[in-house]
Amino acid sequence: MAIYHSVTELIGRTPIIQLHKLDTGLCSLFLKLENQNPGGSIKDRVALSMINEAERKGLLAPGGTIIEATAGNTGLGLALIAAQKGYTLVLVVPDKMSREKIFHLRALGAQVVLTRSDVNKGHPAYYQDYAQRLAQEIPGSFYIDQFNNEANPLAHSTSTAPELFEQLDGKIDAIVVGVGSGGTLGGLQAWFAQHSPQTEFVLADPAGSVLADQVESGRHQDAGSWLVEGIGEDFIPPLARIEGVHQAYRVTDREAFTTARDLLKTEGILAGSSSGTLLAAALRYCQAQTTPKRVVTFACDSGNKYLSKMFNDDWMRQQGLISRPQTGDLSDYIA
Ligand code: PMP
Repeated sequence: MAIYHSVTELIGRTPIIQLHKLDTGLCSLFLKLENQNPGGSIKDRVALSMINEAERKGLLAPGGTIIEATAGNTGLGLALIAAQKGYTLVLVVPDKMSREKIFHLRALGAQVVLTRSDVNKGHPAYYQDYAQRLAQEIPGSFYIDQFNNEANPLAHSTSTAPELFEQLDGKIDAIVVGVGSGGTLGGLQAWFAQHSPQTEFVLADPAGSVLADQVESGRHQDAGSWLVEGIGEDFIPPLARIEGVHQAYRVTDREAFTTARDLLKTEGILAGSSSGTLLAAALRYCQAQTTPKRVVTFACDSGNKYLSKMFNDDWMRQQGLISRPQTGDLSDYIA
């Protein structure tokens, strides 16, 4: 067993597990465990890639300041790496984000600037506009801007894609992905177009997001809302290469959460809500196949941060997603 010298060396090279307890029809279904990255998500790869590229291009120098607008997994990945490399990290976060997330980011050493959640793009307090302005004002700072940063998909075309191909012996019929920034989908497609063009891309989209409409009809209406975190959008992210997607599935919050809970109970994997969406779509895709196929999807992030939400029966009941206690705990029966 190797000895590592920095937590950043632990990013990537994640294991793959074949799922045997869920109904995968005629297909072999594999799950790449991105929840095992040190920051807990697939976004560690992207955070490392965006920082390395900025250094390489001379946009970020020792002692510099990194700025991004997010309270999500990208923020956690950036915080992990910024601390290792000695950068100051400023994250602009809408004030509706959970205290837990903000405490976690601050514990990693990030400076969290809270801004208004009730304003839209174009307003100076909108979190992305605010971050962009800070980057102009703070000397030596670099705005990460993951939605428009080519080093985001690059992380997947240089690491995630070749890892998948090697781990699955070059035999992959379909990859099921979700889209947040579009980096995963865009980066994987770029690599597979070159090395395995017959591999199909299947989109797993939260019901209410506009991306599935875009895949099916090339246009979309206004977005609805959903509770799944990290995927689904109300616009088409430019990095996603959405036109390359073969098929899309719309997954409700109920189906996503139930599937993530089943994944933990049956296969012992604690993954987040977007993973529930991806797995639900992958299972539907597998069950619809009439010939055996090899299909892979992702556990995008760890389920720890959802313990008080989708893994909590009280929360699920409050959201109207389950109707009676599911745990069998004695406490459920005490009035
Ligand atoms: N799942 C989770 C939990 C995420 O945080 C993200 C990133 N927002 C994704 C999936 C989607 O990844 P991408 O940004 O590459 O589209």
